[in-house]
Amino acid sequence: MSDCIFCKIAGGDIPSATLYEDDDFRVILDLGPATKGHALILPKHHYANLYEIPKRMAAAMTEALGCDGFNIVQNNGEVAGQTVFHFHMHLIPRYNGDQAGITWKPGELKDEVRDEIVAKVTAALK
Ligand code: AMP
Ligand code: ZN
Repeated sequence: MSDCIFCKIAGGDIPSATLYEDDDFRVILDLGPATKGHALILPKHHYANLYEIPKRMAAAMTEALGCDGFNIVQNNGEVAGQTVFHFHMHLIPRYNGDQAGITWKPGELKDEVRDEIVAKVTAALK
């Protein structure tokens, strides 16, 4: 897509802090990082499948950064916080004591709600 910022970055038309690149993906540092090392996995196609990239990147970044864990976040839609509409995954290193706050307050799964959701979603899959 000609007007997509992530297409331009993934394709190398706009410079980026690139950690990794192959025929299908470019992995760049996020300009507004949640933690040190926050990376974005950008498919070069405007839509593309995921292969082994997240696992390989997490292993390399753990070795390089010494982080204690990762969040892999993928936002879909404005309501979910998506701001750039070129599919991408956030690879966010986590450090003991960091304040990234990628979490939520657990609710409660009530029996009737559980049964309703299971019935509706399984029906929708048929
Ligand atoms: P999302 O909200 O899931 O769509 O994530 C978009 C992410 O892209 C945000 O975390 C931004 O900080 C990041 N971002 C936007 N523009 C750029 C850019 N030109 N280079 C690197 N990261 C960017
Ligand atoms: Zn795009």
